[in-house]
Amino acid sequence: MPTAFNRSLAVVVTGGIASGKTTVTNGFLELGVPVFDADAIARELVAPGQPALAEIGAAFGPDLLTSDGGLDRRRMREHIFGDDAARRRLEAILHPRVREALQARARACAVPYCLLAIPLFAESPRTAYDWTDRVLVVDVARAVQLARLMQRDGMTEDDAQRALAAQATRAQRLALADDVIDNTGAIDALPRIVARLHARYLALASRLRA
Ligand code: ADP
Repeated sequence: MPTAFNRSLAVVVTGGIASGKTTVTNGFLELGVPVFDADAIARELVAPGQPALAEIGAAFGPDLLTSDGGLDRRRMREHIFGDDAARRRLEAILHPRVREALQARARACAVPYCLLAIPLFAESPRTAYDWTDRVLVVDVARAVQLARLMQRDGMTEDDAQRALAAQATRAQRLALADDVIDNTGAIDALPRIVARLHARYLALASRLRA
């Protein structure tokens, strides 16, 4: 029999680059938990014809658009690389819209809980996500993170170090955590950890409805 839910418990999943967020959220997806991804939404927002893309064109010039009216992502990355003011201008266009879309999707969810994958959660204003319920941080030792990043993306150590330095620190992220997955260990340890958290979130969600 279908159950009426007031609303879904909204659980943020965050972690540094190559900490294992996608690997972890895939584990929840296998259990049937909806996952809404800030990066995927950001890509949808710059599809041809989207208002955010028009704003980006107006702010940065038509050179950053492709001939078919999309965003030239490589050029955009090059444009904001090392230019903090430009990066902030881009984020001011995209981030509020990403948050709005995440909130709308979480609110529309008719299951006990959903996950919101937000890589830049710790870098966002503290009040930006005050409508969410809980924060799960995927945490790894820095050296492990560096090695996984280099291996996954074929990066040099210098580039990987730079990518890590541009993000919040482990400590800053952990300070925001309600739950932590230590993903330093073997990947086959994850299903049990995910199953335990799944049970915890279902229990919390049933309290939310009670
Ligand atoms: P993120 O989404 O946080 O950037 P990923 O989930 O893509 O990180 O993981 C980064 C890389 O590390 C991927 O190649 C993934 O397969 C690998 N990985 C994730 N967790 C583990 C683990 N526990 N042991 C070994 N490799 C892992």
